[in-house]
Amino acid sequence: MTQNPLESRASDSGAGGGASAWTEAQLRSAWTAAVGDHPGWVDLLAQAWQVRHRAYAPYSGFAVGASLLTAGDLIFSGVNVENASYPVGCCAERSAVCAAVTAGQRQFRTIAIVTDAEHPAAPCGLCRQNLAEFGLDLQVVLGNTTGLVWHAPLRELLPAAFTPDSFEPRPGRQ
Ligand SMILES: [Zn+2]
Repeated sequence: MTQNPLESRASDSGAGGGASAWTEAQLRSAWTAAVGDHPGWVDLLAQAWQVRHRAYAPYSGFAVGASLLTAGDLIFSGVNVENASYPVGCCAERSAVCAAVTAGQRQFRTIAIVTDAEHPAAPCGLCRQNLAEFGLDLQVVLGNTTGLVWHAPLRELLPAAFTPDSFEPRPGRQ
């Protein structure tokens, strides 16, 4: 992912430290400086950061945490779960969606995704499509472990999306 003008870093927040050894408080400080007008996003990023250590990523070594905020202010989190048969693995974003839908939730406001990538990593195409099923107004907030944040609504990440509105309802759809 290339540098994006919407990306911001709290470069003078005093939150320095090692590239991968920031404390939650330091990260919260950096994220707050970056998205101060959206304090709820910082909590969601922190949730994703906290769950990220549970990622099962022995093949890529790329741990991802995702936290999904519902319309009713519930949070469901997920991590990437890789597999020896590579395509069988599941991304953190879809893990979070599956957890939320399993709990009866289908309306989502925001998803926060945290990785240790140099620039906050955006959802893969498969996950963008998965998220689009539940609404293109979803805010996607990407953070990394050195305090960078980038955000955009899902409709900007998946233009001309194929959604449930793309075809006529069929009997049996729920
Ligand atoms: Zn994905």
